[in-house]
Amino acid sequence: MTKDNERELTPISALGEFGLIDRLTSGIRLVNTSTIKGIGDDAAVLDYNDKLTLVSTDLLIENIHFDLVYTPLKHLGYKAAVVNISDIAAMNGTPKQMTVSLAISSKFSLEAIEELYAGIRLACDKYHIDLIGGDTSASASGLVISITILGEINKDQVVYRNTAAQGDIIYVTGDLGAAYMGLLLLEREKHVYKSNPEMQPDLEGRDYLLERQLKPEPRLAQINLLRKNGIKPTAMIDISDGLASEIIHICKQSGVGAQIYEDKIPLDAMTVSVAEEFSILPAVAALSGGEDYELLFTIHQNDYEKIKNLKDFTPIGHITDKHSGINLVGKNGEMVPIKAQGWDAFKEND
Ligand code: ADP
Ligand code: MG
Repeated sequence: MTKDNERELTPISALGEFGLIDRLTSGIRLVNTSTIKGIGDDAAVLDYNDKLTLVSTDLLIENIHFDLVYTPLKHLGYKAAVVNISDIAAMNGTPKQMTVSLAISSKFSLEAIEELYAGIRLACDKYHIDLIGGDTSASASGLVISITILGEINKDQVVYRNTAAQGDIIYVTGDLGAAYMGLLLLEREKHVYKSNPEMQPDLEGRDYLLERQLKPEPRLAQINLLRKNGIKPTAMIDISDGLASEIIHICKQSGVGAQIYEDKIPLDAMTVSVAEEFSILPAVAALSGGEDYELLFTIHQNDYEKIKNLKDFTPIGHITDKHSGINLVGKNGEMVPIKAQGWDAFKEND
């Protein structure tokens, strides 16, 4: 056993694969009627009756997608679940089941992986998702987390990316750019710490931005609110790579153009002030930052009366014809083509 401050840490090798799986999955109760069989057999068994099944997977690799220097493991687990839940929300669906696969290097103790799982299970509890299986393996280096989520949706309620139409109004939930500002703050503190470990982190009053980066929430309540008010978006996507990249996905797949008004993009005051600190235009943080996990969607103009008084939805522009292109209308009325600069793990960062 090794010591981490006051706690005794247990090497995973002391439990073995099955012991670890037992520890991580003990006490899991199934809450969804569509889950017939969860953990413990060769496969889980699900029954969606006459609903459509939604499936989505995300892979998270240490030092590619997350940095454990400033990411608490519990937050990482929570976020890993949330990014998957967000994909189901973006289809207008309800998340129901999740599988979690882990590859773990020997530097992680049992206690560390239990922290990770505490975050995953917290998200599952909060959003009523059954953890129905996974796979567990050793890793030669670092931590790999792969989550697959399943959800359900009535056949007439599913919303795709490729069905926006000219004249539709473009909306976003919440505010944008905050997660990226949180990341920049954390990266800055990491560099300061590396050069001088005595320095105290300068993150006072920035909780909102840090929370947006470390502990995002999926926008399921907003999906439900739209449904309750009889609004079915014409197209929808979640904002994982930044507004620019996501509106381009909707437009390219739908064969349409778009106009987004810079001064309509919702920004938190803290996002604006920290963007200024980093000499970044706040709109650029919203367009290119990513990881906000808000929803970008379009509605038919006829639904405007139904949505206009609902909280947390901001109209930012409208869908045009394809030949007008995808443009940002600046504060002085100038038009600039929107280009995707979303974070891309395969590109060199410039
Ligand atoms: P198999 O040999 O069929 O791959 P395992 O021994 O890997 O089965 O897993 C036993 C059970 O535990 C299965 O139901 C599997 O889905 C589940 N399981 C394995 N790893 C995890 C994990 N990390 N989280 C949740 N369930 C898991
Ligand atoms: Mg297995």
